[in-house]
Amino acid sequence: MSISVNKDLCIGCGACAALCPSGFAMNADGKAEAVSQEGLDCAQNASSSCPVQAITAE
Ligand code: SF4
Repeated sequence: MSISVNKDLCIGCGACAALCPSGFAMNADGKAEAVSQEGLDCAQNASSSCPVQAITAE
């Protein structure tokens, strides 16, 4: 399993952290980061809601 955020693509909308707070958090730069490698369903839900396809969850 691999859950990650491409910070170059992330626009800091916060959707992933709102939808899947156990998997994602916003960092001091205003970008999302993956905070867990657990919860693939949650991460994939966030991934499909990311407006810039910055989340890999597989
Ligand atoms: S949903 Fe996508 S663009 Fe929005 S904060 Fe998360 S990774 Fe960044």
